[in-house]
Amino acid sequence: MDCLFCKIVEGEIPADILYQDEKVIVFRDINPQAPFHALVIPRQHIPTLNDIADEDCELVGYMLKVASDVAEEHGFAEDGYRSVFNCNSHGGQTVYHIHLHLLGGKPMGWPPYQEKLKTPV
Ligand code: AMP
Ligand code: ZN
Repeated sequence: MDCLFCKIVEGEIPADILYQDEKVIVFRDINPQAPFHALVIPRQHIPTLNDIADEDCELVGYMLKVASDVAEEHGFAEDGYRSVFNCNSHGGQTVYHIHLHLLGGKPMGWPPYQEKLKTPV
């Protein structure tokens, strides 16, 4: 299967891995959007949030637990962070293997879309 993140799971493409176990891998985003930016991915290939099956719910919840543990380990859990799943084109998804963006280390803006500007910010 021609999936970038499956290739990282298989070790065919290198990644700066921060944590891994039998269910998930956490690695630094190659194009960081915050002082700390990592991706939490399941080893299992699930293309988008729309493809999550009932039996995947525990795995997706576990991804959030791992994200909070990584935030704690890197010292920004208390200050806070942003955790994001982008879905399909309007969500800005570019890699079609679900991933949780974990962004931290500075205050984040909200909302991500301003009606007045009609543009993502
Ligand atoms: P999304 O746009 O939500 O699908 O996010 C995909 C993310 O993957 C982007 O933030 C990219 O910077 C990141 N990315 C793409 N290729 C790699 C790679 N080889 N290693 C780490 N992160 C990557
Ligand atoms: Zn994949």
